[in-house]
Amino acid sequence: MAETTNGVIEVDLPIIYRDRSNPAKFYEAVWGRVFNGKRDTERRPYAVVQASNAAHVKAAVELAGRENCRVSVRSGGHSWAGWSVRDGAVLIDLGDLQGIGYDEETQIVSCSPSVIGRKLNAFLAEKGRLFAGGHCPDVGLGGFLLQGGMGWNCKNWGWACESIVGIDVVTADARELHCSKAENSDLFWAARGSGPGFAAVATRFHLMTRPLTSMFNCIYVYPISEYRKVLQWVVDLCPTADPDTEIVCVSRYAPGSDEIQITAGFTTWKPSRADAEISLKSIHDSRPSHAVVELFCDPTSLDKEYTQQAAANPQGHRYCSENAFVANDADVPAVLEAAFTTLPTKKSFALYFAMNPTSRRPLPDMALSMHSDHYFALYTVWKDPADDARCTGWVYDVLRDVERHAIGSYLGDADFQHRRTKFWSEESGKKLMEVRRKWDPEGRICGYLDVDDKSGVAGLRNEFEW
Ligand SMILES: Cc1cc2nc3c(=O)[nH]c(=O)nc-3n(C[C@H](O)[C@H](O)[C@H](O)COP(=O)(O)OP(=O)(O)OC[C@H]3O[C@@H](n4cnc5c(N)ncnc54)[C@H](O)[C@@H]3O)c2cc1C
Repeated sequence: MAETTNGVIEVDLPIIYRDRSNPAKFYEAVWGRVFNGKRDTERRPYAVVQASNAAHVKAAVELAGRENCRVSVRSGGHSWAGWSVRDGAVLIDLGDLQGIGYDEETQIVSCSPSVIGRKLNAFLAEKGRLFAGGHCPDVGLGGFLLQGGMGWNCKNWGWACESIVGIDVVTADARELHCSKAENSDLFWAARGSGPGFAAVATRFHLMTRPLTSMFNCIYVYPISEYRKVLQWVVDLCPTADPDTEIVCVSRYAPGSDEIQITAGFTTWKPSRADAEISLKSIHDSRPSHAVVELFCDPTSLDKEYTQQAAANPQGHRYCSENAFVANDADVPAVLEAAFTTLPTKKSFALYFAMNPTSRRPLPDMALSMHSDHYFALYTVWKDPADDARCTGWVYDVLRDVERHAIGSYLGDADFQHRRTKFWSEESGKKLMEVRRKWDPEGRICGYLDVDDKSGVAGLRNEFEW
């Protein structure tokens, strides 16, 4: 960094320009950290800034202003639709901006947005603490927290963004600010649920942590012929189940087989196995018969769980993910039957993620405002580009029917280029678009990637397609 005679700080920007660099190097800078192998390479940024400090972020936003370009942001690169890659934009890649600090007194952890869940929790484990981040080890905190964050045991511990106490940002006009309930509170409100439409670049999050305890799993695997019975059992037991237990139902192909199976999984955080056994006994005792695999209170750890999640979401594959919050009073097994029983490829899976009782309590005042008792998502996984149309076609066919029984969707597993739906309550959706316009009236920060990337300052419409 150097100070010029007129007092302006000049920053040596680590920047790779599209038109001035080796194409292979530029491609790697644009796509190398994007998780999804299905990519729209027609979208070609103007340049990539590999920021390693907040001054780089500020300088990159200033550069975009001078060049009249938009700014796009990447933290962990795990948005399914590659939201960070935008045509003509200055892409600020925060991969090299790494830092975690912990305050023993307040138990608040501060970290850069590109920090991934596995790294954060390895750091916190030494302090006997936990942050309930994303289930996959390498999802970036940035994208995850801004869209709400369905972290570990979200059903009971609430949305991950509820743990944000402050956030440092660079605004669309390149000012460095802190946002909290007390400072720049409307931007702080938006940071908790705006997702990729956040009207600033986050450079640091300040997060409340929770105590780390032991973990145990109960797992029951059934042939798909038992689908209705198993999913109904899970739906019925969720509202009153143990408050330290995350509950999921997943359908996927059995390893090396042509048979789909349905698995009910219960992951619990307890001080000891004896505590876990007491809490999960009623679930175990009420399980449907005919399970082909049963595990009761099997010791596990976040590290083991991360490894399994990474195996279920392999690198180097093509993905299409979509989701819905199914209405509380829907006949859930009937609504999700096609999704759970007709998976298009061997690696794909359908997920039911229980949200009750979090879904039944009033949310704090923040942009995130959409949820129901029943979160449902499809993760369609394949390798061959020739399967693109079949796999994405299956996802949107299934969603078209499910959507009629849904109240909206979660930003994190959605693609606005393919589907219009509701992501916020009426009131919060309107307020969010106003906050966006106030903080970024020129649409400097790319925002929501919809059809032809034209949503700009207007943002998303927050309405069903039908
Ligand atoms: C394998 C896998 C597992 C997942 N598991 C979960 C899960 O358990 N729970 C869950 O809720 N979600 C999950 N997701 C979804 C994931 O949380 C979202 O895709 C999220 O956007 C990824 O964040 P990221 O920073 O890695 O992505 P990026 O692609 O880097 O970021 C996505 C977008 O968010 C915005 N953004 C990111 N960082 C910043 C920043 N610092 N400032 C301003 N804007 C920013 C930008 O618009 C950016 O383009 C999963 C995704 C994958 C691929």
